[in-house]
Amino acid sequence: AADTGELSAVLARILTEVGPSAGLAGRVADYIPALSAVDPATFGFAATDLTGHTIGVGKWRTPFSIQSVSKVFSLALVLAIEGDQLWRRVGREPSGNPFNSLVQLEHESGIPRNPLINAGALVVTDRLLTLTGDARGAVRDFLRAESGDDRVDFDAAVARSEAEHGDRNAALAHLMASYGNLENPVADVLEHYFWQCSIAMTCGDLALAGSFLARHGVRADGSRLLSRSEAKRVNSVMLTCGAYDAAGEFAYRVGLPGKSGVGGGILAVVPGRYSLCTWSPALDERGNSVAGVAALDHFTTLTGLSVF
Ligand code: GLN
Repeated sequence: AADTGELSAVLARILTEVGPSAGLAGRVADYIPALSAVDPATFGFAATDLTGHTIGVGKWRTPFSIQSVSKVFSLALVLAIEGDQLWRRVGREPSGNPFNSLVQLEHESGIPRNPLINAGALVVTDRLLTLTGDARGAVRDFLRAESGDDRVDFDAAVARSEAEHGDRNAALAHLMASYGNLENPVADVLEHYFWQCSIAMTCGDLALAGSFLARHGVRADGSRLLSRSEAKRVNSVMLTCGAYDAAGEFAYRVGLPGKSGVGGGILAVVPGRYSLCTWSPALDERGNSVAGVAALDHFTTLTGLSVF
């Protein structure tokens, strides 16, 4: 996919060859009731090049709930502010467990395995809250700035729905607080985390917002958010941890750093080339979009572009 023409031909093929199967093999997340209202057969794919030029197919201009894709951005923001200090509070090993699992926390003294599972993301949000005073606002404002789209915003209904059904995240937060690994009140950390996850935006906007990871840490306006090494590290953590207990399978099939969310979105990065975003709400049993993974698998197969 050397130029836009070839790239749009690839996306068109993905839409015809993968798009129609969207929703057939998966299930829309319903543990957050407000998420269950979407059509499982929806499919969108957007690609942004290093200049910010974005093309897409399917429903790439329809906003969806980014959920755990937000964890990449909160991680990047905290690393940009405090660098390696963060790693005193959270690890960077794949967990091999579901995204909302509690089991390793007790064995590992309240230090979550990595920043992309819920426990780790709660710690990152806690840090971001301490460092900025407004974690959810920092994430939303960054996504707005990078996408250039002021419509990027929280979805209050999704945030409330998640809070009403948030016992598991509350359990994670309380357990970590019992080990002294949260600095802010549990209720505040949960609130900021739920709102951060509720942000709604399109595939096109999310591909744009993630493109600093394809530009080795350089933001849309040309300023640097992360050093080259830090951007490499975020991409590495996405590769090893971004699809939870299916991270190995995702790396095997797609061969790119990627981060999924239970809203059905996946952000994937071709370092030095493209930022990609897929959206299809039907999930596999590990919480990753069935058609999204298939589309990214097809993308790297058709283009030969992977990190390997
Ligand atoms: N907000 C969701 C939760 O905490 C995010 C999970 C996800 O997207 N995997 O359960």
